[in-house]
Amino acid sequence: MHRLLCLFPLALAAQAPGALDARVERLLRDILIFDAHIDTPRYFLDEGYRLADEHGYYELDLPRMRKGRMGAVFFGVFAQPQDYPQAQWMPRSMEVLDALHEELKRVPRDVEFARTSADVLRIHKAGRIAALASLEGGHLFHDSLPVLRQFARLGIRYITLAHFRNSIYADSMTDTPRHGGLSEAGRELIGEMNRLGMIPDVSHISDKAVLDTVAASRAPVIASHSSVKAIAPIPRNMPDEIIRAIASKGGVMCINFHAGYLDEAAYDVYIRNREARDREIKTILETRPKDPSRWELIRGVQKKYFEKMPKVPLARLEDHIDHVARLVGADHVGLGSDFDGVSGMVPVGMEDVSKYPALVRALAEKGYSDADIRKIMGLNLIRVMKANEEVAAR
Ligand SMILES: [Zn+2]
Repeated sequence: MHRLLCLFPLALAAQAPGALDARVERLLRDILIFDAHIDTPRYFLDEGYRLADEHGYYELDLPRMRKGRMGAVFFGVFAQPQDYPQAQWMPRSMEVLDALHEELKRVPRDVEFARTSADVLRIHKAGRIAALASLEGGHLFHDSLPVLRQFARLGIRYITLAHFRNSIYADSMTDTPRHGGLSEAGRELIGEMNRLGMIPDVSHISDKAVLDTVAASRAPVIASHSSVKAIAPIPRNMPDEIIRAIASKGGVMCINFHAGYLDEAAYDVYIRNREARDREIKTILETRPKDPSRWELIRGVQKKYFEKMPKVPLARLEDHIDHVARLVGADHVGLGSDFDGVSGMVPVGMEDVSKYPALVRALAEKGYSDADIRKIMGLNLIRVMKANEEVAAR
């Protein structure tokens, strides 16, 4: 916390607009912008969404990554237990991961698949974008460490221990507790992940499961896409004592940009309408199983319900970053936008990956040092990756 004491006097020192522009431009020239959680790959598979083309929908493609000066991204692979029967979890996740690898073959000059922190730094330095893979939901392994090791070989670098429901490893924060935190199998899983250099991701899991994971892991953990309960007191967000625990072992809390997670009033409207929205989407999927226009229709439904929510400004996202920085220091906050996983519910001014420079500017305006801005925008995540690699190498 002491590190932050220097933050506010700096903020008071007036920054002339021209000087601020120059400072932001200088930062953007080589800053590593690294987002810990984006869910685009299933669109490659389901909709033939092409990374190379610029789209007027969804939140990530190559032209917008370039506009946003994006350097690296953890793409999420998942098969939600509430969307797929158990028999499909494994093939579905393999198909999504395959779709990511296949899609990257179409853009070899711009994007390269990365496995290590050194890969990310090398690719970024060469002016290209590093794509990494993560797996959301420990339910996929069926308690098989060999399956976990196979995922490691396929390039999965972090694993979220549970998703919206409990897994055999950990209680989910959105389910009725079954293990009282992390299970014995969960502890074993963490041990193996540490051995493999895979980062334990504590987003989605219960508070007790986070504490257990932090205690069990020999390497720092991340919350890949979680926001702050003290700012927006909703179930999916994390309370201060949990953020402190993550930071106490060197971990990083990567803030989720979901408008409903950033702002309680927006969340209330989202939750009130969620069932009706999901019902409309389900009807489209069931009545038009082969109709290629169904995705556009679904986006229309999402947009209709998003428009009922109060607008959430970029400043609210900054509030979440500030809160973590003040609570535990700028070394422990990062970006985990959850773009393409938030059903279009994005803040005003941070609509897609092309908007990251607005956040760099906002942090500079608030008085964060260049070094802290670099950490928040990406280097904290690199530090945690490296620490996990070092634990594995021991
Ligand atoms: Zn998630």
